[in-house]
Amino acid sequence: MTQVHQLYQLQKLDTEIDDKKKRLGDVLKAQKEPPALVAVRQRAAVAAAELQKWQGKHQNLTLEVGSVSAKAKTSETRLYSGKVTNTKELTDLQHEIEALARRKAALEDEVLEVLVKVEDAQREKTAADEALSTAAAQWEKQSAHLKADQNELALALHKLMQSRQSKAAVVDAASMQEYEQLRKQKHGLAVAGLRVNMCLGCRTTVSANKVKEVDEGRKVYCGGCGRLLVTP
Ligand SMILES: [Zn+2]
Repeated sequence: MTQVHQLYQLQKLDTEIDDKKKRLGDVLKAQKEPPALVAVRQRAAVAAAELQKWQGKHQNLTLEVGSVSAKAKTSETRLYSGKVTNTKELTDLQHEIEALARRKAALEDEVLEVLVKVEDAQREKTAADEALSTAAAQWEKQSAHLKADQNELALALHKLMQSRQSKAAVVDAASMQEYEQLRKQKHGLAVAGLRVNMCLGCRTTVSANKVKEVDEGRKVYCGGCGRLLVTP
């Protein structure tokens, strides 16, 4: 095998490796959660926090109602105990009981308002959780397929890299350096095949004289793109 053909073998492998690496990158990128799923996850988190907030308010108000009731009860007990005879104290107690009753009524109105909020929040949370579970299941199905693609590509790449290593081992250092240099300059394609007299790297027509030299296995560069030419 001529040196040019050795490089051509290497080029074919590198082209395939580049392609698989790009596809692997795409597959990895595609496994990022889609915006719709991220949004619905966010919605469920907000709904859960909202529900917790209203449930907490409801609990606090209920405790407050209980405490106001207890205070009123204590005052009533004292008022009707017969132990209080001082008129001023009796009037104060009556006023206090009335004030506590007003406070309790106001609190109970608030409890009702908050209960409506709790119900709304509960409804929204149920809806958000349902949407999330649907979206997550759908995504899991899709990404399972991507995961399989990822594994397949990684395995193929591993095999290709091994082949490349053995092919590269027989190429001399100077040719390898030139090849790598050309790859860098020519978008990954250092060695271009000839189709009759056309360079497949840039579609330029190559002179008959050059074609002959390529056929002989000599190092010939395309006048159009500067790539090394080879007869496949
Ligand atoms: Zn060319």
